[in-house]
Amino acid sequence: MSKFVIIGNSAGAIGSVEGIRSVDKASEIVLIASEPYHTYSRPLISYLLWGKTDEQRMKYRPDSFYKDNNVKTLLGRTVTKIDAEKKTVTLDSGETVSYDKLLNATGSSPFVPPMEGLEKVENKFTFMTLDDAHALEASLNKDSRVLVIGAGLIGLKCVEGIADRVGEITVVDMADRILPSVLDQEGAALVQSFIEERGVRFCLGDSATKFEKNKAVLKSGKEIGFDLLVLAVGVRPNVSLLKEAGAEVNRGIVTNEKCETSIRDIYAAGDCTESYDISVGQDRILALLPNAYMQGETAGINIAGGEKLYDNAIPMNAMGMFGYHMITAGSYEGDIYTEKSGRNYKKLFYRDNRLVGYIMIGDIARAGIYTSLIKKKTPLDSVDFELIKRKPQLMAFSKKKRAEFLAR
Ligand SMILES: Cc1cc2nc3c(=O)[nH]c(=O)nc-3n(C[C@H](O)[C@H](O)[C@H](O)COP(=O)(O)OP(=O)(O)OC[C@H]3O[C@@H](n4cnc5c(N)ncnc54)[C@H](O)[C@@H]3O)c2cc1C
Repeated sequence: MSKFVIIGNSAGAIGSVEGIRSVDKASEIVLIASEPYHTYSRPLISYLLWGKTDEQRMKYRPDSFYKDNNVKTLLGRTVTKIDAEKKTVTLDSGETVSYDKLLNATGSSPFVPPMEGLEKVENKFTFMTLDDAHALEASLNKDSRVLVIGAGLIGLKCVEGIADRVGEITVVDMADRILPSVLDQEGAALVQSFIEERGVRFCLGDSATKFEKNKAVLKSGKEIGFDLLVLAVGVRPNVSLLKEAGAEVNRGIVTNEKCETSIRDIYAAGDCTESYDISVGQDRILALLPNAYMQGETAGINIAGGEKLYDNAIPMNAMGMFGYHMITAGSYEGDIYTEKSGRNYKKLFYRDNRLVGYIMIGDIARAGIYTSLIKKKTPLDSVDFELIKRKPQLMAFSKKKRAEFLAR
């Protein structure tokens, strides 16, 4: 019987527990996490503030999860050091925990760049954790003027959560469009106008150069007064434990297809790692929940002596803003097919006889068919692509391929 230690308690960590237990019911699992809570779905912190969910319903797994999977938890405890020689981790209490195999699923942390005067702003927040959501909720009221720096996924999710509960919201981003790493110009403009109808204002292509207590001065010279400041400029992977232990780390922790790091018996999964993106043929950080889970599951199966490879990663995003939905996947290069009608928007990107990416906004029905074409690198001349472009449907596939789809 072995002892497996997991650092983290979110998508990557939970995937690894389920991966381990699919192979090995007996070995000891110890799960250690700084956050003192039962595992929860991080993207739902905005729904919590919006009143669309509560803490019970946002749990990522049922209350009995740790008991059912025979997992010993050390919650509210932070790992400060990994000793790869002695095969131990040290906790903030000074205590050490030994392991036979270790998984690092430490996620990422908000990155706040130095900005003049920021230290004097009293009511400033980040938006990554349940504690962040509670802190913001405790400070806002129906008259609050909120300034959000960052129009990416996290900044906009925060906007969605608080829009009905505050007086006004302004979002500033140096990019010239919202969700710059997810949407193209046209798609971003559609979503922006939808959000603006909720009374949210955007200052794009601009940035805060300094803060004077409750006022931000932008590069353009514009001044914005605020009561609450939310910083959602970006995130940085939590790599320090493994870096200090001597593992290979670029921007994220380097892992192979089995989710092993460069140190024997240490695995890594989730937002703290880099994965090989098959849509562009490069290693990059894919800080998304489904990726974190699948990497964790792969790591868990391999940790427990099974065999699984994580070899079909692509960036994928499924998100809603005030009930307006969008799904995107892959890379945006090659030939383009576009469809637009009212608030529905679709763009497909294909090259070398393969679909490499897509953006769907509004009507997102059967987007999974496009995702599957990308992930399976299906040659487009083996399907009725003209039909699939317009309507993703199984009839466009050969009988054999339809059977494969339906068997999944
Ligand atoms: C507001 C918001 C909205 C989002 N929306 C989406 C979305 O729509 N779609 C999507 O795909 N993704 C979304 N994401 C991203 C998604 O939440 C992450 O990709 C996912 O949570 C990553 O899981 P993870 O396990 O890698 O890390 P995390 O969820 O970051 O968890 C890291 C864990 O490690 C623990 N930890 C860290 N360091 C230590 C340490 N030294 N010792 C002990 N424990 C430690 C933490 O306590 C935590 O339990 C969103 C994120 C946010 C914040």
